[in-house]
Amino acid sequence: MSILQILAPFDGWCGTLDEVPDPVFAGRMLGDGVAIDPTTGILVAPCAGEIVALPASAHAVSIRTARGIDVLVHIGVDTVQLGGRGFDARVRPGASVRAGDELIRFDLDVVARGAKSLMTPILVTPMDGLRLQQRRAPGLVSSGEVLFEIVGIATAAGIETSTPPPRAANAPKEEAAAAHTLIVTLRHGLHARPAALLAQRAKAFGAQASLSAHGRTANARSVVAIMALGVRQGDELSIQASGADAPQSVASLVAGIQEALRMESAAGHGAAAGTAPDSSKTAPTAAPRPLAAAGVLGGVIAVPGIAVGRATRIERREIAVAEHGADSGRERAELEQARINVRMRLERVAATGGATRREIIAAHLEFLDDPQVNEAAHESIAAGKSAGFAWRSAIRRSISALQALEDSRLRERVDDLLDVESHVLLALAGEARPMNIPLPERAVLVADDLLPSELTALDRARLVAICLSGGGATSHVAILAAAMDIPMLVGLGSGIRDIADGATVIVDADAGTLQTAPAAPAIEQARAAVESRLMRRAKTLAEAQIECRALDGTRVEVFANLGNVTDAAAAVAHGAEGCGLLRTEFLFIDRETAPTEAEQLAAYQDIAAALGPRPLILRLMDVGGDKPLRYLPLPAEDNPALGLRGIRTALAHPDLMRTQLRAALRVRPAGNVRLLIPMITDAAEILAVRGVIDELEAEIGIADRVELGAMIETPAAALMASGLIREVDFLSIGSNDLTQYTLAMDRGHPELAGRTDALHPAVLKLVAAAAGAGAAAGKMVAVCGGVAADRLAVPLLLGLGVRELSVVPAAVPAIKRQIRSLRINDCRELALRCLDLASPGEVRAQAAEMLESLGDMQ
Ligand code: PEP
Ligand code: MG
Repeated sequence: MSILQILAPFDGWCGTLDEVPDPVFAGRMLGDGVAIDPTTGILVAPCAGEIVALPASAHAVSIRTARGIDVLVHIGVDTVQLGGRGFDARVRPGASVRAGDELIRFDLDVVARGAKSLMTPILVTPMDGLRLQQRRAPGLVSSGEVLFEIVGIATAAGIETSTPPPRAANAPKEEAAAAHTLIVTLRHGLHARPAALLAQRAKAFGAQASLSAHGRTANARSVVAIMALGVRQGDELSIQASGADAPQSVASLVAGIQEALRMESAAGHGAAAGTAPDSSKTAPTAAPRPLAAAGVLGGVIAVPGIAVGRATRIERREIAVAEHGADSGRERAELEQARINVRMRLERVAATGGATRREIIAAHLEFLDDPQVNEAAHESIAAGKSAGFAWRSAIRRSISALQALEDSRLRERVDDLLDVESHVLLALAGEARPMNIPLPERAVLVADDLLPSELTALDRARLVAICLSGGGATSHVAILAAAMDIPMLVGLGSGIRDIADGATVIVDADAGTLQTAPAAPAIEQARAAVESRLMRRAKTLAEAQIECRALDGTRVEVFANLGNVTDAAAAVAHGAEGCGLLRTEFLFIDRETAPTEAEQLAAYQDIAAALGPRPLILRLMDVGGDKPLRYLPLPAEDNPALGLRGIRTALAHPDLMRTQLRAALRVRPAGNVRLLIPMITDAAEILAVRGVIDELEAEIGIADRVELGAMIETPAAALMASGLIREVDFLSIGSNDLTQYTLAMDRGHPELAGRTDALHPAVLKLVAAAAGAGAAAGKMVAVCGGVAADRLAVPLLLGLGVRELSVVPAAVPAIKRQIRSLRINDCRELALRCLDLASPGEVRAQAAEMLESLGDMQ
């Protein structure tokens, strides 16, 4: 017997859920029903009941009938992103409505332009205990006509509804319980899609799980109940469960939120993997704070990976300082001397480390010299305090200011300040931080927080993972850990303080969990996972030394981007076939005076030697914009990214350019070096540089012209590629700048980070233009921007005709492995399809689908 009729909420074309271009709806993850493509913008109630969810964006509405059946109407796909634009709610949550009552008005034009699709699912959610019948056949439908009927599946207790069965009164009291609290960082909070994911996960466990926020609690199995919580970005959400598998249920729900975040990113709303600078790393996901540990703690993934080891704590020694100083002149001099010593020491460490460490130390040197900090310290000294006391209080004052900020990335700079504080205090005490601090075998470092210099002081060979109760995924210590390839979880909460020193723990920094008391089989399983990962990595590394060809035999070169000689050694070790981009400006970025020809020659020659017979593409200094040089102060500009940058700066300072070119031309063996010009906008710039090179070659006595390439970093250069390529030997696409200039979005803007995506179809069209020009001229077109290391981008770039990728050294093996699994024809088909898509999210989805069909799920 029918228990409910669902009526059309508006006029339109009635179809099936399969036609909704969203796997959540088409896959019936939310429930069953039909979909309508609306032709009017007035949504009326499809049945009588209470409005249980109507988000502020008014793009969806849920009604609960008197029998407890929930009906959801979700206007279009991806309409939550409109943030309410074009929608006007006519009722409020909690209102009782009759079938046919007006609920939402929406502007069809506005919504159609902003949505992925207007196809509107009308669903019963969930379908537990219910069956749908008399579904309307596809065709035109008018508002108020019956779409389908709901019948109950008879049970002993009568008709089941979506309300979860109450717990039996005699349920065992010793049931396990678990809970977590986290901050929801999803852009649109717990809207329909994440709610569906969570409900699905909750249903997979026997435990009764619930979510609480704003003082309300929802059954975690009910999508509508979750949505009705009204959880927005930044809200605190508690997850509780009771029952035999409660800890697993809670861990799965935490992982569900992280999965939703990844989906959000893949759709182009989070961090875009392909557009990050080379030193970028995993973007922060959620920030769980465990309330109760039940053997599994949830954390934020800072560096993915798996490890099994012994929990190990290292004590941070508090550095004692006397409050009062002897004589203010002496205290000031001591502070100055301590800062000089720290500076020298940090610069020494930077010179021996990789690019990541150098960048972090550069930030620390900024703090060391910070005028506000130093002024505050000097004021305290003048007031009679000791140098140490004054330095500490000046740093702590800056820390308080940072901690009050809402931006978590800024708050994460607190650790850097603490690091600089301790360096100076140790220097004042005449000490330096000890190095190679011993650790037990297979140590999992467990701490509340960790400073960058504390990490680099540890014995790396024995450290297998890092687990912090606090910390942030974008902190410098996390970036360092990523560079050192150490799995790391942060935000694990105070539960980690209960872990006994020496206890065996499992760190699953792929899933974001720390198992604090794992059973023997789990340990065995995790060890096997670590082992197979190591073997796979060793195999990939071994294969990386072999020349790279796609599955159909097409040759594709994989080069590395370098900033110094250490990177060059790493590139060779990782199988790079050459250097596709030497960012020469980084070699001399901290100098007060311009490097001489001899200094430059020595630096370039060292790198060439480290590369052996492999080619070295040396880019002329790309100065200006986001890369200022102290020894070349440029006039203040309103918009430096559009001002004196790259080749424009070089041509404006011909002496500096000539010095660099002379040094580059003298590197041996000569044939291995090629030159690359940054920020080209027309052929005249190339001809100007070529003219100087010709002169210098004649002067030095070089017979063979050096190969010259132009970077394609501006839309102008891409569109004129067929003309430019006549003047050069090769092109290299700098996707980082090309994306910034195509989309008119600053590549360093934190709020636009999720949108400056090099897989935007507009950027792909420019890549296609450049690659096409290369193919027509029979010359190489490479990509050396960050997108070259993005696995979703690789088939697209190859499909567009790119035959050389230059990536960070560590990415070379994986990129080579991926290329070996691809057929150029498949890549070409994919690329052609993607050029006509409307958003980077759609491009990413298509590329992901293709890789999945090849079994490349990584
Ligand atoms: C680019 O813009 O993509 C590029 C490789 O140059 P840089 O990142 O050094 O500006
Ligand atoms: Mg660039």
